[in-house]
Amino acid sequence: GNKNMNAKLVLLGDVGAGKSSLVLRFVKGQFIEFQESTIGAAFFSQTVAVNDATVKFEIWDTAGQERYHSLAPMYYRGAAAAIIVYDITNQASFDRAKKWVQELQAQGNPNMVMALAGNKADLLDERKVAAEEAETYAQENGLFFMETSAKTASNVNDVFSEIAKRLPRL
Ligand code: GDP
Ligand code: MG
Repeated sequence: GNKNMNAKLVLLGDVGAGKSSLVLRFVKGQFIEFQESTIGAAFFSQTVAVNDATVKFEIWDTAGQERYHSLAPMYYRGAAAAIIVYDITNQASFDRAKKWVQELQAQGNPNMVMALAGNKADLLDERKVAAEEAETYAQENGLFFMETSAKTASNVNDVFSEIAKRLPRL
């Protein structure tokens, strides 16, 4: 098969969950304490190596606000992968993540590789969503689950690498 592939990837999730921060960490190795809200969507690209192949991710970082919801299908349609992000300190963001999973299951590409990222894992003292609950939900719904921290970089590259490994090869 082809050793070098491109893959469209979309980040979905509640506003404030840390989507833009995860992308900034992955693409530029940086973290900003006061990350500005995304307007509409933002595009990035980054290449990862898996075994002897490379995957160039074409990343759409969406806004998350309800007023932009109708735009979301433009970004997830045709996407090979999605990262659904919630904030482990915010139960409502986990509920919102489940809604995104439902929408992708109903409207998205059926072969889409989906990751559930419980972000802000550095804020353990403020945890509201148990890792076990999210892991169970992910298993039942065909996603893989990781807790991440854009702040400390914990598991950020790992989410993208795991997606790259799971993408159907050409
Ligand atoms: P988005 O709306 O999903 O794109 O979320 P942002 O990336 O804009 O992040 C929202 C806020 O959470 C910002 O103030 C970030 O600095 C903060 N944030 C994002 N990721 C983390 C994280 O892993 N840990 C902590 N402590 N804060 C984070
Ligand atoms: Mg954002």
